[in-house]
Formats: sequence, C-alpha cells, structure tokens
Amino acid sequence: MYNYFHLDLIFLKLSAKLIIFLSMKIEAAQKIVDDWIKDKGVRYFNELTNTTILMEEVGELARIISRKYGEQSFKKGEENFDIADEIADIFWVIICISNQTGVDLTKAFEKNLEKKNTRDRNRHLQNKKLK
Ligand SMILES: [Mg+2]
Repeated sequence: MYNYFHLDLIFLKLSAKLIIFLSMKIEAAQKIVDDWIKDKGVRYFNELTNTTILMEEVGELARIISRKYGEQSFKKGEENFDIADEIADIFWVIICISNQTGVDLTKAFEKNLEKKNTRDRNRHLQNKKLK
C-alpha cells in the first residue's frame, strides 16, 4: 500500500516527466513565434501595444464564453465562433510578450508549477465550496 511518501515520489516523477515534455513544446512555441515575427511580422509590437492586444483577445474569448456558457445570447450571425482559435490568439500574444521581455516560459511554468505543488498543494482540497 502506498503511503504519502510514496505518493510524493510518484507525483515528483510524473511532474518531472511533464515538465520535460512541456519544456520542449513551450520552447518550440517561443521559437516559432519569434521566427514568424522576424520573417513576416517586421518586428514585435511594443510591450504596451501587445499588452492591450492581449486584453482585446481576452475580451474576444470572454464574449464567446458569456454567450455560450453565460446568460448572454448571440446576435444573428455570431454563432460561428471558435473558442480554440481565441485561446490560441491569447497564447500567441503571451508568447510575444514573453519573448520581448526575456521571459523563458518553460522556466516560468516550472517555477509556477512548483508554487502550486507546494504553497497551494492542499488549498483547493480544503475548500469546502468546491465539494
Ligand atoms: Mg481573437
């Protein structure tokens, strides 16, 4: 039977594999965006512009979510939405901002995951509102 120590080891091994897998994908995504910007985008929009573009893209996703899952309704002709594409738009801009501000998203993700696995490890498990 597993005890908490064994579960911790299993969890750490799975986390390490997940991090290695995601590292390759995130690093590749940052390179793909950087290559595209240099080849076809002329240059990055500045950080302020990209941050406002990020807000625009989040708004586009929010519009769809409020209509599909919330109480808002679609106007005629608005029904052809693509949530995945809107999330990808957000991801693209986040990568742009990361690239131009020198953020290594892999390291940032690893650090953030570590925080969630330590500080926040039991936080949601103990949240009675989630039960
Ligand atoms: Mg969009």
